[in-house]
Amino acid sequence: MRLLNIHGVGDVRLDAYQRPAAGPQDVVVKMKAVGICGSDLSYIKMGGIPNPLATTALGHEGAGEVIEVGADIAGISVGDAVIVNPMMTPSNIGSGGPEGCFTEELLVRDAAVGVSILPIPEGISYEIAALCEPLAVAMHGVNRADVKAGDKVVVFGCGPIGLGMVLWLIDRGVTDVVALDLAPERRARALALGARAALDPANCDLRAELVKLHGEVPSYGRVGVGTDAFIDAAGAPSILTDVIMMAKFHSKLVITAAYMKPIEFPVGRMLTSEMTITTAVGYPTEMPEVIAAMPRLKDKLASLISHTLPFAEVMKGLEIAATPGSAKVMIEFEDA
Ligand SMILES: [Zn+2]
Repeated sequence: MRLLNIHGVGDVRLDAYQRPAAGPQDVVVKMKAVGICGSDLSYIKMGGIPNPLATTALGHEGAGEVIEVGADIAGISVGDAVIVNPMMTPSNIGSGGPEGCFTEELLVRDAAVGVSILPIPEGISYEIAALCEPLAVAMHGVNRADVKAGDKVVVFGCGPIGLGMVLWLIDRGVTDVVALDLAPERRARALALGARAALDPANCDLRAELVKLHGEVPSYGRVGVGTDAFIDAAGAPSILTDVIMMAKFHSKLVITAAYMKPIEFPVGRMLTSEMTITTAVGYPTEMPEVIAAMPRLKDKLASLISHTLPFAEVMKGLEIAATPGSAKVMIEFEDA
């Protein structure tokens, strides 16, 4: 077997791997489809996640077929199609623990059916199922924005997470969504998902465009744009300041992007907008809702995948995932 490991800064290798034997509380899943995540690329740049092991195993967006079930595990059988929820495993799959999904056979330690191992609905392909993790991240970001039908929302960034946010917002009746990205391919995907507008923030006056789309409202002695919530899935250092300077009274900003360096922003300006800035990470509760929505949304979900490559070409997949025009790069296992 093989396993994709980070060995150092920018040093990622497909290593020979011996899967540990499964115990009575464990399940083994034969991987069928695994998505490449933006965080995988960040971990490679960082040289891995600090952990007691010499390497960082990659892959946390996996779906596959159960091939071994520990004697103590009830409710799942060999042959079942499942999604792995890496946040709910004790071994931090693909995020600093010994296991990662970029391998032929994944050991899921202390597996719990309905928690760390989730059945794939009838008629859903492994590729769509493997989108569960990023879609759950996106849904959690939307949940943290606490918006309702009729609200006006701006999403910064149309990578897989930002696109997932556009999808969930529209699915919930929040149809006035303005998506922002530098890459024309990504803006086109946001429009195809139903965004009202998709703009290149580097080549427009964002405030002026938002005034056109969302209007202007008096806001404590000044005028703010009519946007109710901003969601940052891009992480550009100027976003926080730009949003604060144009935000209306009681608007919200949810930060889901990973900022590696401290940034300055005009706190004083926030005083008169009483705006809320919060963050969102992971998906504490969202996966079951994402899975339940898959049969209804499967065609839209398929549009989030821009490339599919075999496991043998995972290194090429990492390169493609780093290009601005790509969306989700999916790795398929040979017999998937
Ligand atoms: Zn991910």
